[in-house]
Order: sequence, then C-alpha cells, then structure tokens
Amino acid sequence: MDEPKKIALALPSIEATAVDYLAEVVNQNWVTSGGPTGTKFEKQLQEFLQTEREVVALNSGTAALHLALKLAGVQRDDFVLCQTMSFVASANPIDYLGAIPVFIDSEKSTYNLAPEYVKEAIKWCLKQNKKPAALVAVHSFGIPCQVKEIARLCKDYEIPLIEDAAEALGSKYKNQPCGLFGDYGMLSFNGNKIITTGGGGALICKDTQEAEEARHLSRQAKSTAIGFEHDAVGFNYAMPGLNAALGLSQLQTLTERIQKKRELYQFYQECFAEIEEIEVLSVQNEEYYANYWLTVIRFTGSNSTKNPEQFQAFLAKKGIESRFPWKPLHLQEIYDEQHYFGAQNAETLWKTGLCLPSGCGLIKEDLNRIQQAINAYFSA
Ligand SMILES: *Cc1c(COP(=O)(O)O)cnc(C)c1O
Repeated sequence: MDEPKKIALALPSIEATAVDYLAEVVNQNWVTSGGPTGTKFEKQLQEFLQTEREVVALNSGTAALHLALKLAGVQRDDFVLCQTMSFVASANPIDYLGAIPVFIDSEKSTYNLAPEYVKEAIKWCLKQNKKPAALVAVHSFGIPCQVKEIARLCKDYEIPLIEDAAEALGSKYKNQPCGLFGDYGMLSFNGNKIITTGGGGALICKDTQEAEEARHLSRQAKSTAIGFEHDAVGFNYAMPGLNAALGLSQLQTLTERIQKKRELYQFYQECFAEIEEIEVLSVQNEEYYANYWLTVIRFTGSNSTKNPEQFQAFLAKKGIESRFPWKPLHLQEIYDEQHYFGAQNAETLWKTGLCLPSGCGLIKEDLNRIQQAINAYFSA
C-alpha cells in the first residue's frame, strides 16, 4: 500500500502566476535591490495595511528588527525588554547591538506579553538606574497581543515600542493592523509565513525621515551616488528585486490566505469542541482579529494520560506533521543568564502546546485525515 501523502505543518503556497512576476524582473535585468519591483512591493504592502507609515522592504525580518532597535537608539549595555515566548530571532538582534535582553513572561490566554510583568520589569530596570531602551512585543502565531495596554505602558515610561508582527500580517486590534501601533513594526516573509518572498522582511516606520535612514543603513550607508563614501557602519539588508517579485505575486492573494488560515482555525475549534482537555489558542475578545497563522492547541488536563509528545508521535505515524511551540528564550542556553520576569506561563505553553498543520494549501481530504486522527487519538 502507498504511504499516505505527508501533511506538512505549513508549506509555502506559490501560485502559478508567480512565474510571470519573476520573469518580469529577470527580463528587466533588475533582480537585485534598489529597483522598481521593491518599491512596488513596499507600496502594495502600505496599501494593504492602509497606512501613511512607510514600509521598507528588507532581506529578512531579523534585519528589520535589528534596524528598528538601531533606529530606536539602542546602545551597548542597554536593557531591552523582550517577550520570552517567541522565536529566537525576536531577541538575537538585541544581542547584535551588545544590549541586554530582559525576558518577560506571557499571559495565560494568548501567551503573548503579560502587561503586569512588563510593568514589573520596567520598575526593576529603573531601580538599576537604566530605563529600558526599547520593548519588543510579539503577536505570536498571528494572535494580537494586548497592544493597547502595552503601548500605554511604553508611552507612560517613554520606551520605544517595537512590534514583532512577523507572523501577524493581516491581524488587527480594533480594526487597526498589527505593526502600526508601535514606534516601529516588523514583518517577515520567510518560507513559512503567510506570504513569502523566499526570505525577506519589512520595517514599518512612522515617517519618511526614519524610513530613509533605514534604507540608507540597509545599503551599507553609502553617502554619495558616485564613489565609495560611507557615513556609518551599514548593513547589506535591502530586499533583492527577485524576492520582491515573488512577494508581489503573493500579495495578490493575501486576503484569501488570511481567510483560509481562519477557516483552518475554525476547523480545529470544531474538531476539539467536545474534547475537554484541549484548548485552542484564540484572541482575547472580539476587539481582536487574528490571521491565525498557525493554530496552536494546549493540553489543559493535568491528570490525563494524553500529552503533546504522545499526540505528536501518533500524528507522525499517520503522516501528519506537528510542532512544539518555541522553547522560551530565557531557558535557551544562549540566554539563560539573562533577567526574566514572570511566573512560568510561557514554559507551560512550551510543555503543553502543539502547533497543528496550518498551510494554505491544505485540501478537504487532508482535513478529513487530520480529523480522523484527532478522533482516533482522543477516543482511545
Ligand atoms: C519568522 C520570525 C522572525 C524572523 O523573521 P526572518 O524573516 O526569518 O528573519 C522574527 N520573529 C518571529 C516571531 C518570527 O516568527
């Protein structure tokens, strides 16, 4: 008997039309950065977000965070507050600048930043006579964080807010897109994100001046059109035209992609509706709108014999991929000496959570197989 087709966690969805977009930049012979396609991609992102803020296309989301921290004025030995429940790229750029990450725990509903621990961390930093130089807030799995409360805290203490919206393109709070609440916002277009440029990201800046500074730094801070004069130590961070072309093709179907991800989330809600020990991670209330980039479930029954490791192995045998949520950053060997404020909520998600297949390319037949596997596991 043939092995059933593997159902992956999230494969990139690439439409046939992508080839036309790519052919255009090849025919223009402008596959590198600085060309018209990059600008077009930035404009269309801006239109999608319906914002006056500037969007700067870069070669990764990590690069966007690095530039955001730099523009926010983060210096060596500064404290930077950062969500511990995140992908390592949320924190690494803090270290690139020689600054010190201060990790903050999650709240128990969305598992994003808990405002109470943000406050605690700020107060502790102030006691050391070092006001945090920035705060990195993440909209994990595409579920918006309590951005209003966090923005207010940042405003009260005059701390620049950087939104890591890498996974949250299309997510909103009170109809305002994630990435537009902070002083800086960042997006990622890595392979598994809702749209992909192969590899890439974007920095969202409040004004043209900051966007120009970001562009300048992303192109090795070359200060003259002719010759090689550089007025700062810059980076090679601009997005090549080839990647922007793929991004443009993907943007045309972004609305449908969000719809599909939300339908998958709904599908999982229904699958687990009768299974008491499982909670599906969701928005806090109806003021929030999630793109549900990945659907994450959590095992809540402490005395159940069922657990994420066992369920993952069960799914794997049926050709269905799943993944554990990130190991909290303050528990990573590279960061375990850093300060941490919280109550092990992030740890709980890491130990009890599981991310389920959420690719836009999943078809009815895949969903049937997933549903059967869920029923088989939980009825046993
Ligand atoms: C993907 C991701 C990043 C990094 O983006 P890259 O484009 O891969 O550099 C940062 N933060 C979060 C939360 C992410 O998911």
